Amino acid sequence: MKRRNFLNTSAAAALLALMALSIIAFARLTAAEQPIESHTNAPVPPAAKWRMHDRERPQPPVITPGQTFSQSAPAPSDAEMLFDGKDLSKWQNDRGQDAPWVVTNGYMECAARQNIRTRGKWADFQLHLEFSEPAPPVGNDQNRGNSGILINNMYEVQVLDSYESKTYPDGQCAAIYGQSPPLVNACKPPGEWQTYDIIFESPRWNEQKELVKKAVVTVLHNGVVVQNHFEILGITDGISREVANKYGVVHPPEVFVGLQYHNGAVRFRNIWIRKLGDQS
Ligand code: MG
Repeated sequence: MKRRNFLNTSAAAALLALMALSIIAFARLTAAEQPIESHTNAPVPPAAKWRMHDRERPQPPVITPGQTFSQSAPAPSDAEMLFDGKDLSKWQNDRGQDAPWVVTNGYMECAARQNIRTRGKWADFQLHLEFSEPAPPVGNDQNRGNSGILINNMYEVQVLDSYESKTYPDGQCAAIYGQSPPLVNACKPPGEWQTYDIIFESPRWNEQKELVKKAVVTVLHNGVVVQNHFEILGITDGISREVANKYGVVHPPEVFVGLQYHNGAVRFRNIWIRKLGDQS
C-alpha cells in the first residue's frame, strides 16, 4: 500500500512538472512570436509598395521653391569648407589622385568621366552644396544633367534636371536613388543655382558585424524638405544589382562625400560640411 502511494505521489509530481514545463515553453514561444506578429502587422513601408524604378509610381507634386533659402550661405564657424570656388585641394578621384574636374568662375564642373570624392571622412554630418544643371538642357530622362551625391560610393542622393522633365520617380532629382522619390519636385530651371542641405547619419554595425542602425537621411532641396528622416534600405542601385538595397557591406561610420560623373556637365559650388554633435 505504502509503495502504491509512493508511486502515485511520484506520478503526480512528474505530471505537475510536465505541466509546468509546458506552461514555460508556451510562454517563451508566445514571447518569441510577439515581435514577429507585430512586424507582420506593421504598415508596408512606402519604398516597398512599388517596384524599383517603377514608371507607374505617381510623380511627386511639382512646386515652386523660394528664390534663395540657403543659396550662397556662408559656412558656420564649425564647418569645414570643402569647395570655396577656388581649388579642389579637398577632393580626389576614386584612385586617390588629384580631382580632375574643371574649376572656373567660382564653380567646379563634372569632367574627365570620373567621380570625385572628399579626402576627409565624417560619420554623421550636415552638408551644404549648390548645383546648376546645363542650360540649355541636354538629353532627357536619366540622361539630362545626371550627377549625384555619392556618400561612400554607396548611398546616392540623385542630382538630375527634373525641371519639366520626367523620369521614374525614385530616380528623379532629390530621390534616394532607386528607393525613395522626393516628397515634392522642388527643381529650379536649368542654369539656375539650386541648393541641397543634407543631414546624414551613418549606418552602424556591432562587433559581430550585425547591423544595429540603418543610415538615415534628411534632404532639403531649395529650402524644401524632400526626404524626411528616410531610413536608407541599403546600397543604392547603380553599383551592382547584387548589392542594391542591402547592407551587405560592413564599413566604418566615417564616410566620404562623393560627386558623381554621369555624362552631364553639372556644376557645383559653395560646399561645406559640419560634423553633427552628440549631447547624449
Ligand atoms: Mg546620379
